[in-house]
Amino acid sequence: MNTAILHLDSAQRRINERAQQIYDKQVDRARRQMDRLMLLLMLLQWIAGVAATLWISPHTWIGSISQPHVHLAASIVLGGMISALPALFVWRMPGKPITRHTIAVSQMLWSALLIHLSGGRIETHFHVFGSLAFLAFYRDWKVLITATVVVAADHLVRGIYIPQSVYGVLVANQWRFLEHAGWVLFEVSILTVGCVRGLREMWDVALRRSEVEEAKSLTEIEVQKRTEELRLAMEASDAANRAKSAFLANMSHEIRTPMNGVVGMAGLLKGTNLTEEQEEFADTIMASATGLMAILNDILDFSRIEAGKLQLDETDFSVNEVVEQVVGLMASNAAKKNVELLIDIPAETIAVVGDSVRLRQMLMNLVSNAVKFTNEGEVCVKLTTTQEPDQKLKLRFEVRDTGIGIPEDRQAAIFESFAQADNSTTRRFGGSGLGLAITRRLLEISNGTFGVQSKVGEGSTFWFELTLPKGTIAPESEPMISLKDVKVLVVDDNSTNRRIVSAWLTSWGTNLWTAESGSAALETLEARKEGFDVVLLDYLMPGMDGIRVAQAIQERFGENRPAVILLSSVENEHSRADHASFGIDAWLTKPLQSQKVRQAIERWVSKNGEQKSKRNQTQGEQDSPLKGLRVLVAEDEKVNQRVAMAVLARLGCDAVLAENGDEAVQRLSQQKFDLVLMDVHMPVMDGREAARRIREQEAGTGRHIPILAVSASAMQQDVALCLEAGMDAHVAKPYTPSQLVEKITTALEQFGAAA
Ligand code: ADP
Repeated sequence: MNTAILHLDSAQRRINERAQQIYDKQVDRARRQMDRLMLLLMLLQWIAGVAATLWISPHTWIGSISQPHVHLAASIVLGGMISALPALFVWRMPGKPITRHTIAVSQMLWSALLIHLSGGRIETHFHVFGSLAFLAFYRDWKVLITATVVVAADHLVRGIYIPQSVYGVLVANQWRFLEHAGWVLFEVSILTVGCVRGLREMWDVALRRSEVEEAKSLTEIEVQKRTEELRLAMEASDAANRAKSAFLANMSHEIRTPMNGVVGMAGLLKGTNLTEEQEEFADTIMASATGLMAILNDILDFSRIEAGKLQLDETDFSVNEVVEQVVGLMASNAAKKNVELLIDIPAETIAVVGDSVRLRQMLMNLVSNAVKFTNEGEVCVKLTTTQEPDQKLKLRFEVRDTGIGIPEDRQAAIFESFAQADNSTTRRFGGSGLGLAITRRLLEISNGTFGVQSKVGEGSTFWFELTLPKGTIAPESEPMISLKDVKVLVVDDNSTNRRIVSAWLTSWGTNLWTAESGSAALETLEARKEGFDVVLLDYLMPGMDGIRVAQAIQERFGENRPAVILLSSVENEHSRADHASFGIDAWLTKPLQSQKVRQAIERWVSKNGEQKSKRNQTQGEQDSPLKGLRVLVAEDEKVNQRVAMAVLARLGCDAVLAENGDEAVQRLSQQKFDLVLMDVHMPVMDGREAARRIREQEAGTGRHIPILAVSASAMQQDVALCLEAGMDAHVAKPYTPSQLVEKITTALEQFGAAA
């Protein structure tokens, strides 16, 4: 309470002090202005005085004869003298009381001079009243007193000695000055009241302005306080975010390291002689580990996007390739469930500039969901494009399934993180509920749009649209062989697939027939005497499967049969050699890719004139492409050492182990290697330092041994640090044997030549 009063008191004191400052300044400014105004008035009076002397005084003083009078000198000299002193004061001391009082005296002397020049005319006495009114603008009643004293004294003295000068008569009553002084006092008292009130109003205005200023400064202080609080809160939140990112990076590293043991060993185990039951166990370990890694990657991605740390790449890429890769990866899952997986994209290459990795991730999320939530029927990935201004292309992706569908009231919620349409789905289908949330965020960053249409029991269509600049990927070289007028029969029970393949074939200029079953196909083949060039034959069809149709074609048409290309999404029990004996010339795995279909047809069209016995090369067991490769493995962790050494031994490589970076550098100077697998975190000398040393040793020799960083730190910046240290590529732990082969092969292709 007391402090509140103290606060109020000090606030009031501040307001009053400030009001006083404002008031003083205003009054001073007003008085300085008045000083200048009065000086101007005096100058005018001087001119008026000279004029009066020339035209009025001759008449008033000597009757009808008009001639310049000695008063001319008086008005020029005296008037000049009267004005000179105030001019000096206004120049040297503007706004000071002495200046005002001097002006008051001078002004009243001007009145006296003018009255004298007009020969004491009573009208000229009004000059006195006017002057007093002007002086009142100073809002200083003391100035009026000075003026009054001067007027009274002047009237008294001149009334006694030269009454004509002041009253216009030769003889005047010596008390007449009292009457004049009385009128002057009357006016001065009224003007004094005006002065006091004027000053009070100025004070009120100053006080109000000071109060407003105080309120404003209080608001500013409050705003500053809040801004500071906000800044501190943001700093705290930034620090928390950094801590979260660091925690995630650590956690990711800690989980990936043991997972490398699990994935690597499970992969190796699967390559040994196992009983059926053991094989199943190994598969389960592999599938669980892969699932766990997918969730871990999702969480990492999600937190990266949330923290605004995700940056999109911009490279030229072919959208067709991305779609085909995604669908290819999901093909075996779909085939296992007997779900038809279809690609419906334009036959020509669509090149754009954007982030192909993120596009693949978004499509993968949608396609894997579609396959996961569909138990029968089909999943179709469709791409349509629209030309946009500025060399841009709008891509619309649709992933349509005939799965369980999503209730309407849950359709908005599933785009949120960790949300699922029905919580029981987690138990039935698994999943973390992050896939759609990540896709949505990625599309937000890319300025895309995202949506779903779905009906429970009928299926769902997830779609998204992206506008990207057109890319400059060189279009695939013009096909050498024209397919114009080639006669093709497409046999498939799935109408969507018939439609998609038909669209490609039509765009290549073929003559096209379709049949929806084996028996219908045979009828069409019988009916057309001119025959067909190629039959695209689906394997899984109700009634008669593709192999039986192919056999029937072989039996009926013998040597004159068309080329038969089998389309199959499932592994069948027949070997490739069997296929040939059934009358099958080539086989393509579904989901079909337009280029592959075209190449298969081209191959058989070009061989038309040649012997048809030339069959596809049987893919014999090839030697491992990495056989004999000398690899130095730098790794400190026991389990990971065993994984790496075992995988490399399986691939036929000659692998040598170094326990840390320092040992690796020494080994390299003693022995020749083709490639280094370098763990990043190692005691004594870490992988990055070792890579730097190796590159230093190579400097100027023209040698460049490929170094692959192997690390459980999979964040973008970790990869960048490895590359900065001179390594060529990055393999994230955990890795499967095939992933390692792929990375090594790519690195050898790119950097091996200089090794
Ligand atoms: P997850 O699939 O890992 O649970 P998502 O974010 O990818 O997470 O999906 C969230 C939820 O949306 C799923 O759990 C499921 O309930 C629903 N959903 C997604 N795609 C489909 C689909 N094609 N058909 C039916 N439901 C779907």
